[in-house]
Amino acid sequence: MAGARKPVVEVRRSQRRRRTVSAYREGERVVVLIPDQFSRAEETEWVDRMLARLAAREERLCRSDAELLVRAQRLITRYLSEHARIAVPASVRWVTNQNGRWGSCTPADRTIRISHRIQEMPEWVIDYVLLHELAHLVVPSHNARFWELVGRYPKTERARGYLEGVAAAAGVVLAD
Ligand SMILES: [Zn+2]
Repeated sequence: MAGARKPVVEVRRSQRRRRTVSAYREGERVVVLIPDQFSRAEETEWVDRMLARLAAREERLCRSDAELLVRAQRLITRYLSEHARIAVPASVRWVTNQNGRWGSCTPADRTIRISHRIQEMPEWVIDYVLLHELAHLVVPSHNARFWELVGRYPKTERARGYLEGVAAAAGVVLAD
């Protein structure tokens, strides 16, 4: 996918390390641990390699349909618990054929589709889009009751602003 964000990388050198390199996420940053004796060239090479490895691992683990369902269940428990029976979707999946929307919901068969365009956005934006569609299983239209449900997620306004910004930068108007 185009526009993959390059994360902020913090390299930490360790005198105790001899050969091993490791990388992990710490908030929005990626920390790469390398042996102190590495040259600059080795550092660059290993940072690239570890970023690629981390991205592949996250794609496998975190951005699958199965993970979306787990994420949906977590959001339902946290924000829609009194509607847990109807808010659980029959299916939730990533789709690539959805150009005018970030996500969509068909209450009749309780299916939810999430656009691959948000796949590389921050977690809190994905959570907002998913919660928005889950709330449509409870309230199909964008009325006050719907926004009360979605508004329980503390980052709703921030996520909507983020998505508007992305849409504006791409020169498109996307419905929610
Ligand atoms: Zn909506």
